[in-house]
Amino acid sequence: MSVNYSIPRGTYDILPETSYKWQYVLKTFQETAKLFNFKEIVTPIFEKADLFERSVGDTSDIVEKEMYKFNDKKGRKFALRPEGTAPVIRSFVENNLGFSGNLCRLFYSGPMFRYDRPQKGRYRQFYQYGIEAIGSNHPYIDAEVIAFADTFLRNLGLKNYNLEINSVGCSICTQDYDLALKEYFSPHFDELCPDCKKRMGKNPKRLLDCKVKSCQSIAKNAPSMIAYLDEDCRTHFEQVKFYLDKMGIVYKVNDRIVRGLDYYTNTAFEFLNNNLGAQNALLGGGRYNGLVKQIGGKETPGVGFAGGIERLLLSLEQEELFCGKNSIPEIFFITLGKNAQIKGVELIAKLRNMGISIVTEIEKESMKSQMKAANKSNALFAIIIGEEELSNNELVLKDLQVGNQKMIAFKDIGEIKEIIDKAK
Ligand code: AMP
Repeated sequence: MSVNYSIPRGTYDILPETSYKWQYVLKTFQETAKLFNFKEIVTPIFEKADLFERSVGDTSDIVEKEMYKFNDKKGRKFALRPEGTAPVIRSFVENNLGFSGNLCRLFYSGPMFRYDRPQKGRYRQFYQYGIEAIGSNHPYIDAEVIAFADTFLRNLGLKNYNLEINSVGCSICTQDYDLALKEYFSPHFDELCPDCKKRMGKNPKRLLDCKVKSCQSIAKNAPSMIAYLDEDCRTHFEQVKFYLDKMGIVYKVNDRIVRGLDYYTNTAFEFLNNNLGAQNALLGGGRYNGLVKQIGGKETPGVGFAGGIERLLLSLEQEELFCGKNSIPEIFFITLGKNAQIKGVELIAKLRNMGISIVTEIEKESMKSQMKAANKSNALFAIIIGEEELSNNELVLKDLQVGNQKMIAFKDIGEIKEIIDKAK
């Protein structure tokens, strides 16, 4: 079939034959949230553009190159959200969610938008799930956020993933490190890519996660952040590792993880699935102690992570794991003749009110075509009413799996619910 319109590049439709997989992954995420007592927050899909420009950072790829920005009719600048943390913190500040003084544990999920080069596992509209724990600088909370991610992946049954952690320090100890990086990269300045040349002045740490091969080979021998951590940051990092050890969570320290966004402080981590190819980061996160203040709130520490559902589904497929199943109707309702059809409409409404799922194909008239449709629907049972059944005030209930059938009087249709429940 020729179509006049096609879907925008880098986006995709979630079709009926796969939508149940999304529901399964999201349900597992919500169940994990219950286990850790995180509550859902839903924020708008678009925000004022400067929320991201100021918080995510103007040297980040997201802000520099990937934001879908637009002006509304009054000329105000908005952006489709490229990530979930800044909007959640905006809402935290605006709604004073920290008022109780308790740790605020939030989770979210929804579409994010980045004008990125589409490839396997990377899209322009993708679906993220994430959590934020706002209000504590205790290293146990970093470990708990990591444990949440690990529990979620394990609850899905995934095995082929590994955790890498780092500390990017705080705004004070990072100053010496930034100087050391500038000193290290300066002699190579002419060999750096144009992006790295720009980043060198503003945020030299970003040179460590440049994807350009020649920059990567220069960065290989750059000094390690861990050597520059001040005492508090070093202790914090040691404590995070201590709690992870206590929880039995296996990790590797990778001092090259800086994460793409400017707002990270101290802990940074990634869960990787190396079978996924270039886009191997399943989820990533870290601590962001300066962000709440930057967005206009009181100085409040926070830590969280975000991951994409698409890469999870690829991983589930690779490991041939259960991803839920599509729903099937309990009953396919067949009627033969005008009068039976009218009775059928009445009974279908009654049965649905009892909580039974029913389909019918009212425009099909012959028994053969309706039976064919019933078999295609994978329904558990068929109900059949013809003229004869109608005159006897009864219906035929046919078990489509076993093949046997029984007559049920219209006045006894309550029995059908019990029969279905037993068959499931
Ligand atoms: P980030 O917000 O860049 O730290 O990304 C967190 C996670 O979101 C990644 O580990 C991916 O699972 C997912 N993700 C980020 N960008 C994309 C994208 N363009 N397409 C699909 N998933 C993405």
